[in-house]
Amino acid sequence: MTEIEALMNEHIRTLKPYSTARDDFKGKADILLDANESWLGGSGINRYPDPRCTALRKEIENVLSLPFDMTAITNGSDEAIDLLIRIFCRPGIDSVMIERPTYGAYRVFADLNGVEVIDARLKEDYTLDIPRMEEVMAQRKPKIVFICSPNNPTGSLYSKEDILRIADANKGITVIDEAYIDFSGEEGMWRAIEGNRRIVVLRTMSKAWSLAGARVGIIVSDPEIQRAVMKAKPPYNVSQLSQQAALDMLSRKDEIAGTLSQILSERERLSSFFRTLPFISEVFHSDSNFILVRTFDAERLYDYLAARSIIVRNRSSEPLLQGCLRITVGSRDENDKLMEVLDGYSL
Ligand code: PMP
Repeated sequence: MTEIEALMNEHIRTLKPYSTARDDFKGKADILLDANESWLGGSGINRYPDPRCTALRKEIENVLSLPFDMTAITNGSDEAIDLLIRIFCRPGIDSVMIERPTYGAYRVFADLNGVEVIDARLKEDYTLDIPRMEEVMAQRKPKIVFICSPNNPTGSLYSKEDILRIADANKGITVIDEAYIDFSGEEGMWRAIEGNRRIVVLRTMSKAWSLAGARVGIIVSDPEIQRAVMKAKPPYNVSQLSQQAALDMLSRKDEIAGTLSQILSERERLSSFFRTLPFISEVFHSDSNFILVRTFDAERLYDYLAARSIIVRNRSSEPLLQGCLRITVGSRDENDKLMEVLDGYSL
């Protein structure tokens, strides 16, 4: 048994996956009477979608340089989080470790699957507490360690060295969630998979690729994990419309690059402006498309903005986030409006 197989749940290792009509017959044919579809083609989506997202993964290799045989497409990266927990963790027996604070879905999907969550609190400067995490991993042996980099909601990247130290000390799977990596100017960590096959990288087309409504997530992993994902995922998890939308956006990569650089310059403009405001005590460094700020009264500022039709995210009840609001970088017009409204706020 391989190292990866040994980490997998036995019922996944031995699972005989559902075989779709499209898996049974792979050639070209004129008449498809194998999938109980309708012949009425007016919608353009009367056929089931490609369960393997072949065309999309080829284009992802071309545009994002992520190797075809290392990718699997999911219904948003949220589905990837759920699938990975179900592939590697036994309900009531295994655990996962997450940073605190971090993206809320890791905990929800672990809870949903009856898998215990171990919190690894970040240091005051929002970096990873390596010695503490190493100690917990040695004692509790979590099956999956989730590292969100750049982290949501703190906004910053962890150092590659820190992430690799955790991934090497972790005898289970290390999932590096890079939903916001495009805003960081860094390539991300997928190349580290070659040296450590227990690393899984998550990407999404929901952020920089403007496709949150389409639900397109990308798992980058060793082919062995990719095969397990293909077995465990619902056969038609990514709709034809979503695969098509993703292909369309990838073909518009120059436009995306233009929007990205606009978001980055707006991020700097907003950060500088926030620093001038007397009711904001801290503006945190961001490698993402949002900015975390610490205010003297988060509730009051949140309500003030909401009353003027501007909604931000109040994160102030989370550990280490007292008084903190997370603000997405909007369009230039939206940011102008936000700045104008904030100018009218007084303590
Ligand atoms: N990971 C992180 C860190 C996120 O912030 C989000 C969405 N807010 C997701 C994953 C989920 O993204 P998707 O739309 O691909 O499901």
